Amino acid sequence: MKKIKSIGLVAHDARKKDMVEWVEFNGKRLGRHRLICTGTTGRLVEEVYDAKYPELHVDIVKLKSGPLGGDQQMGALIAGGELDILIFFIDPMTTQPHDVDIKALERMCSVYNVVIACTRSTADFVISSHLFEEDYDPVVSDYAGYLHRSV
Ligand code: PGA
Repeated sequence: MKKIKSIGLVAHDARKKDMVEWVEFNGKRLGRHRLICTGTTGRLVEEVYDAKYPELHVDIVKLKSGPLGGDQQMGALIAGGELDILIFFIDPMTTQPHDVDIKALERMCSVYNVVIACTRSTADFVISSHLFEEDYDPVVSDYAGYLHRSV
């Protein structure tokens, strides 16, 4: 994981206000990294940067909206080693139509030891860590035993 990190931002509808506030507060620090969002979250994040930090010229990658495959696209980035950190504000009070995709995305973070923050407090700890601005080598699980199992 390099100094400039690839950071995924995803927020369920009931948590989008949280995400907007968090990005507003942390915009400068966050804007030094590559930001990849699910569709609607990305639109809101883009609006924050346009309104509050136009001088940063932050380029935001917008995937599909979560329920339309965006979470799966994010998961595919993780499987391909292209995402370092996921800020994933999940709504714990509402059943989501793409519940299986959410579980899959969380699981991919575990499989590949990707940093994942599902609460604002955790996101605050992640962004204020000195590792946020430094190179960092996460321990990668060895799946050789699994890959070479007898079937
Ligand atoms: P959205 O997707 O940013 O397109 O709303 C978020 C999600 O529900 O995964």
